[in-house]
Amino acid sequence: MSNILKEKERGSLIVISGPSGCGKGTIIKEYLRTNRDHSWLSVSCTSRPIRPGDEEGVNYYFVTKEEFEKLIKKGEFLEYTEYNGNYYGTPKEHIESRLASGIDVLLEIEVQGALKVKELVPEAICIFVMPPSMRELRDRLVGRGTEDIDKILGRFKTAYKEINEVTKYNYVITNDTVDEAVLKMQSIIISEKCRVDRIEEVYLGNEEEEIHELLRDDKYFVNRDIEI
Ligand code: ADP
Ligand code: 5GP
Repeated sequence: MSNILKEKERGSLIVISGPSGCGKGTIIKEYLRTNRDHSWLSVSCTSRPIRPGDEEGVNYYFVTKEEFEKLIKKGEFLEYTEYNGNYYGTPKEHIESRLASGIDVLLEIEVQGALKVKELVPEAICIFVMPPSMRELRDRLVGRGTEDIDKILGRFKTAYKEINEVTKYNYVITNDTVDEAVLKMQSIIISEKCRVDRIEEVYLGNEEEEIHELLRDDKYFVNRDIEI
């Protein structure tokens, strides 16, 4: 138990991007399995059609294009974008309250949205997930079996543009194996908690004299295996 440091208790805003099919969802799911008590994955709104395996309110809030546009007008989004012909947006609601109560907020969003968040919240931790190769990305996209060939082609073309933006992020994780990628994600987040700019106060106590006296006193070393 340490009481020497008083650190900011605010949670971190963590942005995860990467081309469709690189494995973001898989890594985040695995990360949350052991970090759910202090992390929350924001659920975005989208106008894209629901696909096999998607659950309303879990993967997304599915709305029509018209409903999405109404939400934009009402200023409900932290950021939003159009991707492959559909809207995607991060609802503002709940993000600030969770960060303030020490919960890390994870946003799984594409590159334009990530750059917007970085502009609005410069301390956000932006992580780019990279596929091991473009061939492996193709295999994962096809293997997932959730889109038809036209949609896969669209996503694959977008992937090239997205990868060109990697240097605008703070970190990059190559998703070779899920275990290694999750370990890297965990390590990044733990390292960020150790940044000195999270320190609010260093408290050394007021026993300096007493501790010095004790150290000067030979009796302190009696029965101790220390050579003086
Ligand atoms: P994204 O969320 O980035 O679109 P997914 O998490 O849906 O990607 O992963 C796409 C496909 O690749 C899924 O079928 C998933 O099981 C698979 N996958 C993810 N990570 C790996 C990995 N490290 N090795 C092999 N397959 C993976
Ligand atoms: P998918 O259709 O595969 O679920 O998502 C397509 C892309 O949209 C992915 O890159 C995903 O990260 C991104 N995305 C999901 N939600 C949001 C969001 O709220 N904002 C932005 N900018 N992108 C999002």
